[in-house]
Amino acid sequence: MKDGPFDLSGKVAIVTGGNGGIGLGMALGLAEAGATIAVVGRNEVKSADAIAQLDQRGTAIAVACDVTDKAAVASMVARVSRELGRIDILVNNAGINIRKPPHALDIGEWDSVIQTNLTSAFLCSQAVHPAMKQVGGGKIINIGSMMSIFGASFAPAYAASKGGIVQFTRACACAWAADNIQANAVLPGWIDTDLTKRAREQIDGLHERVLARTPAARWGTPGDLAGIAVFLASPASDFITGTAIPVDGGYSITA
Ligand code: NDP
Repeated sequence: MKDGPFDLSGKVAIVTGGNGGIGLGMALGLAEAGATIAVVGRNEVKSADAIAQLDQRGTAIAVACDVTDKAAVASMVARVSRELGRIDILVNNAGINIRKPPHALDIGEWDSVIQTNLTSAFLCSQAVHPAMKQVGGGKIINIGSMMSIFGASFAPAYAASKGGIVQFTRACACAWAADNIQANAVLPGWIDTDLTKRAREQIDGLHERVLARTPAARWGTPGDLAGIAVFLASPASDFITGTAIPVDGGYSITA
C-alpha cells in the first residue's frame, strides 16, 4: 500500500487499546501502510506481545496509560510527541462493557463504562489537537458499535457511550475542519475478540443470533477493521469527515 493514496509512510498513529482485539487489528493495518504506531493500554504484557507483532512491519512503541485519567493521557501524548516526533493519527478504540439491564447497573459501573468508552475519546482528542495542528492536519478515528444505532436491554451505559461517540465525532469534525483534521467513527459489527468472548458466555444464543442476522454469515475478525483504519487515516479520505461507517458484514442493513 506504499506510494499511493493509502500511503502512511512518515505518519505517527496513536491507537488506544491497540494491544489486543480490534485495536491491534487496526494497528497492524496502519503499520503495514507505513505508519509508526504508539500502542496505548494498561496491560504491559499484552502490549509487549502487540509490539512484537508490529515490529515485524515497522516501528512501534508501547505506552502504558489509563485513558480515563486526564494527567496520564497528557503524559502519554507528550511522550509520543517526544519519542516519535509528531502525531498524525489517533484511534480512540479503548473500550469495555458491563452487561446488565438499566435497573441493575450501579452508578460506579455506569461511570466506568462512560469514562472508558466516551470520556477517554474526549481526553485523547483534546490532548492531540495541538500536535495535529502543528503538522498541518490529522485524522481521528473513533470506535462506535452497532449499539451506536440499536438498543439492547443489557447495554445501557455501553449504548449511551457508543451513541455519544458518534455525536462527539461530528462535533470534532465541525470544530477542527479548519485545522485540516478529519474525524470519523467506525461502527464494528460483531467481531471475535476478548470482549465478545465474554458476551458469548454471558448471553444465551448470542453466537447463533449473530450468525443468523449477519449476511456475511460469520463473525468479523480484528483484521476486518484494518482496511477502514488505513482508509480513514490516509489522504484517500481527506474529504470525508463526521461520518459513522459500519464494518459489520451487513448486520445493520438486515431487518
Ligand atoms: P478488547 O477487550 O479485546 O480490547 C479493548 C482494549 O481496550 C484492550 O486492549 C484494553 O487494553 C483497552 N482498554 C480498556 N480500558 C482501558 C483503559 N482504561 N485505558 C487504556 N486502555 C484500555 O475488545 P475489542 O477489541 O472487542 O474492543 C475494542 C473496541 O471496539 C471497544 O471500544 C469496543 O467497544 C468496540 N467494539 C467491539 C465490538 C466487538 O464485536 N468486539 C463491536 C463493536 C465495537 P488493556 O487491557 O491493556 O487496558
